[in-house]
Amino acid sequence: MKEKNEYGDMPIEELRKYGNESFDWLAEYFGNIDDYPVLPRVQPGDIAARLPNDPPLEGEDMGAILEDFRKIIVPGVTHWNHPAFMSYFSITGSGPGIIGETLCAGLNVNAMLWKTCPSSTELEQVVMEWLRKLIGLPEDFWGLTYDTASVSTMHALAAARERVPGLDARQKGLGASGVKLRVYISDQTHSSVEKSAIILGIGLDGVRKIPTDSEFRMDAGLLEAAIKEDLSDGWKPFCVVATVGTTSTTSVDPVDRIADICRANSLWLHVDAAYGGMGFVLPELEWTRKGCEKADSLVTNPHKWLFTPQEFSALFCRNQDLLKQSFSLIPEYLKTEQDQVALNYMDYGIQLGRRMRALKMWFILRYFGVKGIQSRIRRVIQWAGEIAGRIDSHPEFERIAPVPFSTICFRAVPGNLRGAGIEDLDRFNQQLIKAVNDSGKGYLSHTKLNGKLVIRMALGNIRTEERHLDQVWEELVRGMERLKAEL
Ligand code: PLP
Repeated sequence: MKEKNEYGDMPIEELRKYGNESFDWLAEYFGNIDDYPVLPRVQPGDIAARLPNDPPLEGEDMGAILEDFRKIIVPGVTHWNHPAFMSYFSITGSGPGIIGETLCAGLNVNAMLWKTCPSSTELEQVVMEWLRKLIGLPEDFWGLTYDTASVSTMHALAAARERVPGLDARQKGLGASGVKLRVYISDQTHSSVEKSAIILGIGLDGVRKIPTDSEFRMDAGLLEAAIKEDLSDGWKPFCVVATVGTTSTTSVDPVDRIADICRANSLWLHVDAAYGGMGFVLPELEWTRKGCEKADSLVTNPHKWLFTPQEFSALFCRNQDLLKQSFSLIPEYLKTEQDQVALNYMDYGIQLGRRMRALKMWFILRYFGVKGIQSRIRRVIQWAGEIAGRIDSHPEFERIAPVPFSTICFRAVPGNLRGAGIEDLDRFNQQLIKAVNDSGKGYLSHTKLNGKLVIRMALGNIRTEERHLDQVWEELVRGMERLKAEL
């Protein structure tokens, strides 16, 4: 093999050898994924303690580096790829996605301008059109990618702020006008909207949380009343964020009704469909999209439920020009001869540089096809219904929320704790989650609903098989029996 050049990169033969070795390792990893504990058996500081304090003075052998990856890094990995990972939202780094991500890293383009990578810019435009059609949004929604839903939502809110008449926050900042902007969310909305308010100068005081109903959906009547009240109290309502698939319970806000309230009050409607948006691919879930066609912007995250490796969020915006108006700033050195005829993505957001993120999505959409995507999403939804049925018919579990998609919220109510206080039941459920997670055979997370600790079981990984559902269910039942005996 060629000697390493003091001034150059890894020799090509080494790239081939270790690249092949890395893919071989990945193939083995996925082939034996069941043998890994879902959660790593490490304590805080364990991994860092095994790494040197200083970088090596002399370059090291790639073989030794990969060996340490296997020995030190992998044991501290939480295996989101594990088919029994049912925490937060269950995701998939699918084969075509991994290949696309690898090639994207290899090409290493910076598609800030059309000219700096025509293929990246045009592929993103085509793929976002495919995605728009896949989820059934109207033709006048224009899409682009960011890394995360948090960042997509921040951009949508910036565009909403730009539309407020007479504000000109882009030029003058918010201080100049003295206007007190108000954005409406529900008590179940993801915290990313509040973070957007922090960064956009709206402030947390400018975020009003509307209570939800018994199924954790925004109460549209209370939204209407809150807008009225705020108007008479000197606030400037400008935006409502509705959610399709809330983080805790995957509830679907009454978007249609909220859209009408927004229209009547000239408010921007942003829909956070980060998780639920992928459900739009199924005709039987069309009801969850109702009203989204009236939104000004909508975010959905293929990196959640479309088998796409992190990070891939899709923002669709009705008013492409407004997004550009909010962010475009063109220094001399970024001007090109194609500026009048081609799209430069740097104009549509805070970041200048962009990777060829659309490549992995293109691979995924082509490899699975619309029908393949539908059947995979449909299957986990059916399984979620089946698990919900098991919970409903078990005398010592209770379901806490409806299951419109593939996430089940429930908790244990053991016979010998009937009539016990909330704290005792919360502690029992916390211990039950720990029992499942410590087993290495599953990973569940929790949330709080109406003050009660609730177990969340989220399905979505396309490597999950029925036996993994049974495996996690068995751990739940076994954990419950053991904990009951210890009470
Ligand atoms: N919106 C909803 C409904 C979510 O559930 C989440 C994360 O789970 C987010 C937004 C934030 O997503 P991201 O991690 O892509 O910023």
